[in-house]
Amino acid sequence: MNFHIHSTWSDGTYTPEIIVKEAIKRKIDKIAITDHYFTQKTASLPAKYLKMYVEDLKALRVKYGQELDIYIGVEIDFSPRTDIDNLPDFEGVDFLLFEYVQDELWDGYPLWMLLKLRKRYKQPVILAHNDISKNFRDADYVSLARVMESDRIGIELNTNYNYTKLDMPFYRLAEDFFRVVREYNIPVSVGSDMHDDLNELANVEDALTFIQELKLDENFKLFLKEVEPNER
Ligand SMILES: [Zn+2]
Repeated sequence: MNFHIHSTWSDGTYTPEIIVKEAIKRKIDKIAITDHYFTQKTASLPAKYLKMYVEDLKALRVKYGQELDIYIGVEIDFSPRTDIDNLPDFEGVDFLLFEYVQDELWDGYPLWMLLKLRKRYKQPVILAHNDISKNFRDADYVSLARVMESDRIGIELNTNYNYTKLDMPFYRLAEDFFRVVREYNIPVSVGSDMHDDLNELANVEDALTFIQELKLDENFKLFLKEVEPNER
């Protein structure tokens, strides 16, 4: 499985169909295409293309649905680079990734702003590649987990090398936090943030190992359940 992949709809190298075919070849069961929603940071989906994006991915679901599950996501740059006040309703999108939440280095908006925005959406809302041990270093993890549970915010285990420090992925640097997370109904997702290297499609093994090590299975199952369009 891999729930964080970019295609030519934003700054990825490959079309969704090439990605889907490659995933089938590699016997991956579930993938999500999660292109960037319009941001000044990078090539991204303007509002007027959002519908086409969803239709394109739905067509692939019809074509390849027997061979693997395809989910539709978007990644939102939660910073002044995005017009946060005018985000669309993301009809047909299965889940929303928010990057840079409370990340000062990237001018990320604070978590409380996301809690407010989150109420507008029925889909799962997930913190993408968040450096919890830095961005929430002053937070009490129990309080943070309680807020995430009550306001239905999930968290992603992102295996991309960009989200490591000294070869350690951000989630491994936040083990203390994840030991708290497993006590709460907080969805946990996995993804590699693939852009231009098809080998990255299968690069989620360490995240799946981490789920076993930290006993986050129920959190992962919760994500899988919530991301199903029929569950909402
Ligand atoms: Zn991404």
